[in-house]
Amino acid sequence: MRKAKNDNNANTKPFYKISASLKYFVPFAWRTHKSFFFCGLLEIIFGALSPFVAIITTPLIINELLGARDIKLLVIYAAITVGAEAVLSLANSVIGVIMEKYAEKFDNLISEELSRRVMELDFQLTEDKNALDQIEKAKEGISWYSGGVSGIIRPFMTMISALIAIAGVIVIILINAPLLFAVTGVILVIQFFIRIRQNKIEIEHYEKLSKLNRVFGYLGFQITDFRYGKDIRLYDASDMMANKWDVYNTESMRHWKGQADRQLPLGILNTIADVAKDFGYYLYLGILAVMGRITIGVFSQMLTAGATFHSKMQQVTECLQDIGKRSNYAYEYIKFMQYPAAIEKGELHIVDKPHTIEFRNVSFTYPNTDVRVLDGVSITLKPDEHLSVVGLNGAGKTTFIKLMCRLYDPTDGEILLDGINIKEYNYTEYMSLFSPVFQDFKLFGFSVAENITLDSECGSDELDRLTAQVGIADKIGSLSNGADTIIFKFFDENGVEPSGGEQQKIAIARALYKKSPVVILDEPTAALDPVAEYDIYRQFENLVGGKTAIYISHRLSSCRFCDRIAVFSDGKIMEYGTHDELVGNENGIYAGMFAAQAQYYN
Ligand code: ADP
Repeated sequence: MRKAKNDNNANTKPFYKISASLKYFVPFAWRTHKSFFFCGLLEIIFGALSPFVAIITTPLIINELLGARDIKLLVIYAAITVGAEAVLSLANSVIGVIMEKYAEKFDNLISEELSRRVMELDFQLTEDKNALDQIEKAKEGISWYSGGVSGIIRPFMTMISALIAIAGVIVIILINAPLLFAVTGVILVIQFFIRIRQNKIEIEHYEKLSKLNRVFGYLGFQITDFRYGKDIRLYDASDMMANKWDVYNTESMRHWKGQADRQLPLGILNTIADVAKDFGYYLYLGILAVMGRITIGVFSQMLTAGATFHSKMQQVTECLQDIGKRSNYAYEYIKFMQYPAAIEKGELHIVDKPHTIEFRNVSFTYPNTDVRVLDGVSITLKPDEHLSVVGLNGAGKTTFIKLMCRLYDPTDGEILLDGINIKEYNYTEYMSLFSPVFQDFKLFGFSVAENITLDSECGSDELDRLTAQVGIADKIGSLSNGADTIIFKFFDENGVEPSGGEQQKIAIARALYKKSPVVILDEPTAALDPVAEYDIYRQFENLVGGKTAIYISHRLSSCRFCDRIAVFSDGKIMEYGTHDELVGNENGIYAGMFAAQAQYYN
């Protein structure tokens, strides 16, 4: 993926943003809905023609009324006026509706593209405040702030249409009342500056609202997501949530009111400018008519032509400003889509053979923190080896796994796969080597089968075998729709809420289904009692067979069957060896922990 200029939006030139937006969104629209441009062409043509019906027929009707008063001619003129205006207005309405449909289609596609990008974002960035802010800005920037893809492209179409109409009225005005340009010009300049100011205010408020909206989204999700329901109720957190909501709500309302207050005087000024323009038109054209320089028909024609010139010129300036403003918003989306990768990604393919993984003097500090969570860790995992990782909370065990899976890169030292730094491998292929089940694994609100296979078209034999192996087949069999039963009630009121242990079994089945050469259990069984956990680990050990396996557990009995045990403490591997070796070291950490726990298992 092309890297974006990692710039500060405020410092990027408006022209750059406009050209970046066009380069991104026009090909996007062409790729997805070519017919949008055909409709746009019709909109340009009909929009440009619309004002000319009245401009051409009004003087004919008035001159006829003041002259020969031929009823037949008058009826024909009136019929042409009404007929042409009706046809054009109908065509414009139909095209308007069609264009709205395109806008909706683009919105859906662009949201899908955004979600995909969020899901593919380097994991490290999901905890990065700047990246999270950028996601929010991208969402807002591409929504109603910019009007989405159509909101960016349509002002160009409207501008072309207005320019065609302007070219037509310029000729008519030049012939009859050239000073109308001067009157219109002065007013347009005033209104142009008013609009610049209005846009500036909007953009300033948009920047501030982005952060507020992120907090709002978080609160809204926490309060309404039933999975937090227990904690909110039992810890009586509803008042705290509601208070926080109130604070941000008040803050947000203050922002909106601030924006409206600042824009009100500008709105009034704009109306005064409009009134001044009408006054100028009537005065100038009235003088020309009184002096006999133009007929009453032309007087009326010039009023319409002048108004058309003014409104179309205003449309052009509005379109130009809209293009600038909307590109400013939409550029946030482009910036996110091209957000720089957090980690280097190589191209080397992974060869299908037993793998050796080596940590060589690896240290790690989480981004934006200054504590070394891993400190000079060196360890080698041979193919087929089963390693148990133990240690107190916060010792760095999960971080060790996250580094191994390349969710983060080491701050110092290197991790090697078959002797080559893992940064040199194709990222997706490297990730596919691992099937971890983390402590905070998540199931989706989809069917049990989809949760295990992460594929809507999965084979049932394999699924039956796996669910039997992890000991959840009976439970699935008892559900109304078997493995097709939906988990949770997000999408289905008949959705089931599996117990903590059942969820863990489903997550373990998912890890086994992936058939990766390295499987990892990072305390996913913490909700189980020691005996149940021991059973699962034991069973898992049989299922894992000849794969590389890593187990993290506080219950040391669950790790006894591993080839090696690494004891983490303060980010270092303090002890390493077989169970018997470590237990033999009576003053060691492992022996101490084992003795303390042994009473529960004997
Ligand atoms: P363990 O798995 O042994 O309980 P972890 O590897 O989860 O330990 O955490 C080690 C240390 O790193 C802890 O002090 C924890 O607070 C810190 N830590 C974990 N994740 C993050 C993170 N995303 N950002 C900053 N610090 C973190």
